Amino acid sequence: MKRFFAVVVCLIMAMPLMAQSGRKIKTLFLDGRSVHHKHWEEWVAPLKSYLTETGRFELEHVSCPAPGEDISTFNPNFKKYDLIVSIIDDEVLWLPEVRKRFEQFIRSGGGLVVIHAADNSFPSWPEYNEMIGLGGWGGRNEKDGPYVYYNKEGELVRDNRPGRGGHHGAQHSFQVQTRMPEHPIMKGLPEKWMHAKDELYEQLRGPAKNMDVLATAYASPEFGGSDRHEPILMTIQYGKGRIFHSVLGHSRDAMTSVGFITTYQRGAEWAGSGKVTLPVPSDFPAPDKVSQRPFKE
Ligand code: ZN
Repeated sequence: MKRFFAVVVCLIMAMPLMAQSGRKIKTLFLDGRSVHHKHWEEWVAPLKSYLTETGRFELEHVSCPAPGEDISTFNPNFKKYDLIVSIIDDEVLWLPEVRKRFEQFIRSGGGLVVIHAADNSFPSWPEYNEMIGLGGWGGRNEKDGPYVYYNKEGELVRDNRPGRGGHHGAQHSFQVQTRMPEHPIMKGLPEKWMHAKDELYEQLRGPAKNMDVLATAYASPEFGGSDRHEPILMTIQYGKGRIFHSVLGHSRDAMTSVGFITTYQRGAEWAGSGKVTLPVPSDFPAPDKVSQRPFKE
């Protein structure tokens, strides 16, 4: 009997340790029709695979009904998860109670990852716009919040001048610059690295509350850009919730960029657990050279 108790006590003492090192991040991958991207289904396999291949995430996948379909069937139990990854780019009418439960989930400490066009989504949902920090298109303008960018003097600017929210020039390969090297997602990454050909989102607008800009890219007028250093990777705190927002990833080609993959994996781990244990891979891009890993289905 004594031995039985000793074993039970040992197990109880070891439990927090097991949970910390071994428990996978329970993740809900959300997709659905994308207003601005007819090719959105191409994104799903790589985005799911990049998470599961790390061994850190346990994934479930739910698709949101498109407008015209029965939205009442969309009712995920968000509380079951640690993390939600969304590529939804739509103004689909999530039911008010679903929106409320989503807000409560994030506010009480849930994680959220927003990839590329997911920051075009829900322009008229104020709480969603607080979660993503900055967004674009869908009629966004000065009513939604400031432009946020780094100027040429290296200062972070919040700019309230009137104008559209959301633009990108011609797709091209561009350099990403780390702005917060001590943030767990960025720690160990080079200060600058080359990203593969992609849309460089710029002139996004939003509440930008409790938002950290982890990395920027210079939107050169040569490609129709804003001439500003635009936020590329951001984190936002919403209540107790952690949000990682990457504007990268327009095409599957852009998604195979190792800079995209690494920051997505580490950003998701941080949003879902508050920590980053995933290492910086040896094929991480150099400041002037793109590095890609072809994706195999
Ligand atoms: Zn795009």
